[in-house]
Amino acid sequence: MASRVYFIKASVAEGERTISEKARRLFQAGGFAGCFRKNDFTAVKVHVGEAGNTTYIKAPCLKGLVEELLKLKTKPFVTDTSTLYTGRRHNAIDHTILATERGFSVAGLGIPFLAPDGLFGTAETAVRIDGELEKEVLIASDIVRCQSILSVAHFTGHIATCAGATLKTLGMGCSSRKGKMRQHAALKPQVKMGKCVRCGECYRHCPAGAISLDEIQAHIDQDKCIGCAECVAVCRFDAVQYDWQQESSILQKSVAEHALGAVKGKEGRAVFFNFLLSMTKDCDCFDKANMPTMVQDIGIVASTDPVAVDKAAIDIVETRAGGKLPVLIGNTKLDWRHQIEHAVKIGLGRADYECIEVS
Ligand code: SF4
Ligand code: SF4
Repeated sequence: MASRVYFIKASVAEGERTISEKARRLFQAGGFAGCFRKNDFTAVKVHVGEAGNTTYIKAPCLKGLVEELLKLKTKPFVTDTSTLYTGRRHNAIDHTILATERGFSVAGLGIPFLAPDGLFGTAETAVRIDGELEKEVLIASDIVRCQSILSVAHFTGHIATCAGATLKTLGMGCSSRKGKMRQHAALKPQVKMGKCVRCGECYRHCPAGAISLDEIQAHIDQDKCIGCAECVAVCRFDAVQYDWQQESSILQKSVAEHALGAVKGKEGRAVFFNFLLSMTKDCDCFDKANMPTMVQDIGIVASTDPVAVDKAAIDIVETRAGGKLPVLIGNTKLDWRHQIEHAVKIGLGRADYECIEVS
């Protein structure tokens, strides 16, 4: 039987209070209360946006969902893990201060922001899965320990996975630092012949000592490379590049397998929301203000199936935009189907769905 995905129209122009009430309506229409029980420690997985980012989903938009969880007498907490890259989400202290400034806090939502992977992103639990790439994934300990999860993803394009939504939020966003590194390790860039000017910038920034310079150009030792992408970010000559077709496919499969680990043991105890608002071609990890949107605001989708909710979101966005997502994000070498197809294959959910519009 196809999975049920609930949809409601919404736009940023309506204001945060209306968006919050619409998310609540979706929660009620989907009968999602049945997924949460009294005294559950419930992780409300969010993305508070990188420091300079202004297009992330704002805390007041989640008020209605949090109130529904509190009515059910769960113990919800807003949460997100530490990032691999430096910035204000790199450790629990800086991340919590940023979250608090943005209202993901007791003062803003009536519940605390708590890092599920400890102060340094190293508090992890190995979860056994029956994946194709992994038999064990490293998930933030308190994501594993809590009884239920309400995931709130902001639908965006993504530089490496094409679509950034629920699967990405669960896979990358619920993993420990080592878990993230394992996923990124699939992405190993190469220096393009003829483009490198030997400036040495990548060599100085590489945290793994994987880059060397000869008389002609920089070289990346693929065995030492941990896939952090620092070299791609610092090269001003566009000389460090990925083979997207090959690398993105493996990364997306790894993300799907980590997502499976993040929700393992929470069957029937997890709900997934994708907010199709302020949809930028890059994700909320980008430290940039007012990034242009790739399609107008559409609404919110929600489901108990993390695969169906992403497939529905992509279908709705492509239909509304009148074009394919890779074209919208400006990289036709990327293909979001890898994450969806692999997630179905490993039993995380279904790609066929019935869309129920809520008014
Ligand atoms: S940063 Fe770019 S141009 Fe400079 S050495 Fe590295 S690859 Fe070459
Ligand atoms: S991706 Fe990271 S580890 Fe790999 S070569 Fe570039 S900077 Fe070094």
